[in-house]
Order: sequence, then structure tokens, then C-alpha cells
Amino acid sequence: MSRTFSQHLLTWFDTHGRQDLPWKHNPTPYRVWISEIMLQQTQVVTVIPYYQRFIKHFPDMPTLAQASVDEILGLWTGLGYYARARNLHRAAQLVWESHGGELPTTLEALMELPGIGRSTAGAILTLALGQRHPILDGNVKRVLARQEAIPEWPGQSKVEKQLWQQSEKLLPQTRVADYTQAIMDLGATVCTRRHPRCPSCPVKETCRAYAQGNPEAYPRPRPRKRLPLRTTRMLLLLNDQGEVLLERRPPVGLWGGLWSFPECPPQTEVALWCQEQLGWPIEEMMTWPPVRHHFTHFTLHIQPVVARIQGQGCQVMEPSDQVWCKMGTMSKRGLPAPILRMLARLREQLEGISP
Ligand code: SF4
Repeated sequence: MSRTFSQHLLTWFDTHGRQDLPWKHNPTPYRVWISEIMLQQTQVVTVIPYYQRFIKHFPDMPTLAQASVDEILGLWTGLGYYARARNLHRAAQLVWESHGGELPTTLEALMELPGIGRSTAGAILTLALGQRHPILDGNVKRVLARQEAIPEWPGQSKVEKQLWQQSEKLLPQTRVADYTQAIMDLGATVCTRRHPRCPSCPVKETCRAYAQGNPEAYPRPRPRKRLPLRTTRMLLLLNDQGEVLLERRPPVGLWGGLWSFPECPPQTEVALWCQEQLGWPIEEMMTWPPVRHHFTHFTLHIQPVVARIQGQGCQVMEPSDQVWCKMGTMSKRGLPAPILRMLARLREQLEGISP
């Protein structure tokens, strides 16, 4: 009898799998959950230092449930997709309140928690508890779409259904945790999106895309459509202490709960807006070239304006959703990537010439 897909994969995993990932040491449901959430849309190499810092700060469910969302977003800064961090916090609170502080151990109950879909729930139960569930993350989708040479985009529900069936069918009866890690590792290290290393692949005999000679054609990418453009103007306000004003964004919506700069509508006059909205006169200002940031569903066009506030009368009261920050002291706050880049540029300018 010929060897099966899972047998080939497991043999390969024993010598080529990534055995030393930090979440593989003591793989409790909590630790696997944190890693799986971080790994959504993010590569392992990026996740590792974030994971290590996060687990050091929040080693277990009680510490995470009792943390402030600000602390969590601060540790998440730079990892992107911040809804993941907010969902993690909310889920920890729910687990603390309703599940005695332990993650539930059934697929259905896990999937009721914010941010946990079927694949993440399956991975947690399989990798941490050895239960038998299929998974279908981005890497697994790619491997399976190539194995079967499925011609359509996997985002379509009928294609996704087909891939789930395939994932279920290939699941072995034993060593399910190793198999799950193996197929994820294969997708990340051999069956990569660009330039897959097919000649070294343990499952090349069954791969239809490889047999056709065009593995990179699978899976088909999301149909392109022009992303809408949104515009905003951000004010990098400086006081006479050289501090910059940061504002906490509303808890939901774009960059929810993160810190950013005040936004002034593009059609308004900046000095007038500052005087009317913040009560502070502007001494001098400078417009920077626009900054573009791409989100999944739109592109944000930011027009930065650096402005110096006049005099002393510009204190904000604590606690507040506005805060004056010294350059270089913001690392504990959750800051979106474009804001971090603008702050770095501002710091360079302040250390060189005044705006
Ligand atoms: S043979 Fe190539 S395309 Fe097919 S699963 Fe292996 S690496 Fe991916």
C-alpha cells in the first residue's frame, strides 16, 4: 500500500519541522492561543519576539484578563491588525468571567470567543490538547489548493468548503498535533507563496500543481479591485517643552484604542481649527509630504502638518484621551505603524532643526 499524505509529511517533520518555536515549549492552551492569534496574517519570524515579550508580561489568563487594553496595545505596536489585540483582551475577560479562567476545550465554545474562528480553535485544541480537528490557515490553504490544483480564489465560500473537506480527509488518526504543525511548517518553509521548493517537498508525488509545472499559479489571488482612497490631515502639535500631543482613538473603528495625532478636516484652516477646537494659537507650522498607508479595504492618504503651539497655556488634564509626550517615551503606548514613522521623522527633525 502506498504511503499516505500524512505519513510522508510526518516523516519529513521529524527531521525538517520547526521543533524549537517558543510556543512549542510547554504548549498550554493559553500559550498556543496567543501564538495562533499573533500568527494570523503575520510570519513566524516577526511573531517570535512579540510572543516572547507578551508571554513575559502576561504569562497566564488572569494577568491578561486584568491588564488594561492600553498595556496590550502597547505590546502589540508594530504587529498590525490591532483588532486581534482587542479581541484577545475581550476574550480573556470572558474566559475569566464565564469559564473559570480556563479556555474552553470544545470547538464550539472556543469559537464563541472574540477573534477565534474554526481554524484557530482547531489549532488550539489540536496543538495543546491533542484533540483531532482539521485546520485551514493561509499556509494550509495554499498547500491544499496546490495539491488539488483548485483553480479558484480560496476566499470564495464554495472553494473554502472544498478545502475544509480536503483538510478533514487528510487528517491522520494519530500524531495529529505533529501533523498539524507539519502542514503549517510545510506551507511556511517549502510550499511558499513565491518560489516553492517542490523538488524537496515530501508530498510532491500527489501534487497536481507540481505535476502541471505551475505551482505558483495556485491558489489564485483575490480578484483585484481598486481600493478606495480616504484622506485625512494629522497635526503633529509641539509645545514649548518639545513634547508632542497624542490622542487616544475611539475604542472601535480604525486603530481603535491606539494613540494617534489629532485630525483636522482637510478643508479647514489649521490655525483657526486649533484655536477653535483646542484653544491654542499656532506659532509656526510646516506641511510635510503626504504619507500613504494601505489597509485591506482602503488606502489612507495622510497629510501631516507639524505645528508649534504658542506659550504655556496648553496643558491637558489627566486622565484624558490627550497627552503631551516627550520624544522617545512613547514605547509603552499602542501606536499604529504610520504614526510611529512620523514620530521618528519628527524626532530626527527636532534633533536637527526646529520645524
Ligand atoms: S510539490 Fe510544490 S506546490 Fe506541491 S505541495 Fe509541494 S511545495 Fe507545494
